[in-house]
Amino acid sequence: MRKLDTFFVRTYGCQMNELDSEIMIGQLINRGLTRVEDENAADLLIFNTCSIRDLAERKAMGKINLLGKNQNHRPIIGVTGCMANAKKESLFDKLPHIDFVMGTNNIHDLNNILDEVLSTGKQSIRTDDHFQFELDYINAKRDDKVKAHVSIIRGCDKYCTYCVVPYTRGPEVSRDPDSIIEECRHLVNNGYKEITLLGQNVNSYGNDKPEWNCHFHDLLYRIDKIPGLERVRFMTSHPVDITRELMLAIRDLKSLCEFVHFPMQAGSNRILKKMHRIYTVEQYLEKVQMLRELVPNVTLGTDIIVGFPSETEDEFMQTYERLKQLEFSVAYIYTYSPRKGTPAMRWQDDITEDVKQDRLQRLMQLQEEICTRQRQAFLGTEVEVLVEKVNFKDSSLLKGRTRCWKNVLFPGDESLIGSLQKIKIHSYSHQTLLGSI
Ligand code: SF4
Repeated sequence: MRKLDTFFVRTYGCQMNELDSEIMIGQLINRGLTRVEDENAADLLIFNTCSIRDLAERKAMGKINLLGKNQNHRPIIGVTGCMANAKKESLFDKLPHIDFVMGTNNIHDLNNILDEVLSTGKQSIRTDDHFQFELDYINAKRDDKVKAHVSIIRGCDKYCTYCVVPYTRGPEVSRDPDSIIEECRHLVNNGYKEITLLGQNVNSYGNDKPEWNCHFHDLLYRIDKIPGLERVRFMTSHPVDITRELMLAIRDLKSLCEFVHFPMQAGSNRILKKMHRIYTVEQYLEKVQMLRELVPNVTLGTDIIVGFPSETEDEFMQTYERLKQLEFSVAYIYTYSPRKGTPAMRWQDDITEDVKQDRLQRLMQLQEEICTRQRQAFLGTEVEVLVEKVNFKDSSLLKGRTRCWKNVLFPGDESLIGSLQKIKIHSYSHQTLLGSI
């Protein structure tokens, strides 16, 4: 049987994929393999892919395709992640040199798949539609030593018409709260200060397991009790499931950061309906208002899609006006890109690329003006920063974040990494606040 000594993992896409990679890396290290940073030096290459946008898929396909042309280096190659679930066996036709395809719901099976490929020399595939096995979270290999992601729910039941996630990750499956608490304690005992609870829709945590009697806010109250845990964040949220109880938890729990990712997606009721977002603009505004009343120091982030099929200029302007009105501190703005297998594929992608780009630029410019005003308001104020790392470009500076997700750079010694510091803000540059201790 062929022997593997080294491996290389490349991750595309979201934080869920990053966490899945950390779990796979932990499994491979426990198997006795050594991680290498040079893909040409690896006996095993894993590409943990993303299907959320066409560009992400094309990037991964291009990269893996290139490897097939290298006659001198023939490592075992595995394609994992959302693209594995979306394309299944067809990946072997497109990339005949790959050895295995493993979906997001089969990560627990990595060692078995490797054994099979190594002993038979044949291609192998596992792409379950449902997630059902507990993963080895405790042995996940994290590069970050201050902040960690913790998975609390996998999959999504919302079926927005443009999104592949319900098809690639399957239905919602909540993780046992005791297992989550155990992992959070383990992380804190190992020096982690900040935990981000992850899920495609964390707010529906527990809905699939009524017998646990543990909703998302109940879980947050339990996590907040862990001594030594400084900060808790969560992502991503669906506006429909952001409850008053959750808002009260954000107000009352010391560890819970006052930042909520609140994806609006569009400011027109017709487009929201077509997207199957299951809320109206009015309902969305009502929730934002309730949250801002209950938690006055809360800041909000959002996602917006422009150029959804049949979006008129007037409907786009409704989105523009909402963005102007709501003053998010972060807005991730995308142009619509059709995804195979989604209901939106039945509509013609009729907004030209030029119009999509024009709408994107207008929203980005508006958001930049909003963010510049917000950064100016920080001048002269003092903020609490969790020190994360030495700044990449200038090593005399440290980098950290405020509770409300603002990047801050300031001069300081490496020994401060992992501590909370009060930083006085004196200027800003692009998206970063600059200050001193
Ligand atoms: S809520 Fe909608 S956009 Fe988010 S993962 Fe689920 S289906 Fe996709």
